[in-house]
Amino acid sequence: MIESIIASPEVVHYICKRFDIKMSKKLGQNFLIKRGIVDEIVKSADLEPGEPVLEIGPGIGTLTQGLAQSGAQVTAIELDTRLLEVLDTTLGQYENVKIVHGDVLKLDVSSIMNHEPFKVVANLPYYITTPIIMSLLESKLPIERLVVMVQKEVALRMVAKPGTKDYGALSVAVQYYTKPDIVLDVPPKSFLPAPAVTSSVIRCVLRDKPPVDVVDEKLFFRVVKAGFAQRRKTFSNTMKTTGLSKEQIDAVLQEAGIDGQRRGETFTLQEFADVANAWDKILI
Ligand code: SAM
Repeated sequence: MIESIIASPEVVHYICKRFDIKMSKKLGQNFLIKRGIVDEIVKSADLEPGEPVLEIGPGIGTLTQGLAQSGAQVTAIELDTRLLEVLDTTLGQYENVKIVHGDVLKLDVSSIMNHEPFKVVANLPYYITTPIIMSLLESKLPIERLVVMVQKEVALRMVAKPGTKDYGALSVAVQYYTKPDIVLDVPPKSFLPAPAVTSSVIRCVLRDKPPVDVVDEKLFFRVVKAGFAQRRKTFSNTMKTTGLSKEQIDAVLQEAGIDGQRRGETFTLQEFADVANAWDKILI
C-alpha cells in the first residue's frame, strides 16, 4: 500500500481546505509540514514496535503518522473537536493509533495509558508548554522519555546551567527529573502557519532517581521557587517569600553552609537541596 505523507505543505493545505479547518491560534495550532523533522522526532524517541507512546495534540496527524509508521502503539490526545473527523480520515488506516478527545491537563493520563510505562512525543501547543511539561514531570507517571517540540527559548531554559540568564525554576525541575538535551532547532518555515519564533526539539530522558538527595521534595521545590521569586535580591532576602523569619533563614543557611548574600540563580541543584534538607532538619 502506498501511504501518502501528511507532513508536506501541499497535503496540509489540501486537508485544511477539504475539512474547512482554520488553524486556531488560541489552541497553538502550528502544523508541521516537513517530513524530515517528523522523522528526526520519531528517531529521537527510539521507539520499538508495540511500545506505548502518548502524543499530545495530533492536529491533523502529521507527527502521528510518523509515530504510527514506527510500529509503536500510539495514543493521541486532541482537544479540538473539529479535528476528530480529520484524524479519522488521515489516520484511519493505522490500527495502532487511538485518538482520545480532551484536554491533556484534565484527563487521567495514567488510566488512558493503562498504567504502563510509556514515552511522550509531541509538537506541543505553545500556549501551555510549561504547564504540560511540569504536570507530566510532577505526576510521577511511568514516563521513560519526553521528546517534545517547544519554543527554542523554552528549550534553552530547560537545559540552562546555574548563573546564566536562562536558568530558573523550570531548569531545576527538568534537570531534577530528567537528563535533557536539545536535538535540533526548527525554523518557522517548517510549520503552517509559520510561528514568529524558532522552535527546538528537546529530548528528556527520565532519571531512575534524582541527581541530588532530597528529604522532602515539596520543600525542595518551595525553596527553588523562592530562590527565583525575586531574581535581583540576595537569596536571604528572597527566602522571606516562604514565610520564614530572618532568624529562621539565617539558621537554615548556616546549617546548610550557604552564603545567603548570593543570588538564588547561582545555586546548583545540590545547593537548593542542601537548603531544603537543612530547613527540614532544624525547623520541621
Ligand atoms: N502534532 C501536530 C503537528 O505536529 O503538526 C499539531 C501540533 S500543534 C503545535 C498543537 C496541537 O495541540 C493542536 O492540534 C491543538 O489543537 C492541540 N491542543 C491544544 N491544547 C491542547 C490540550 N490542552 N490538550 C490536548 N491537545 C491540545
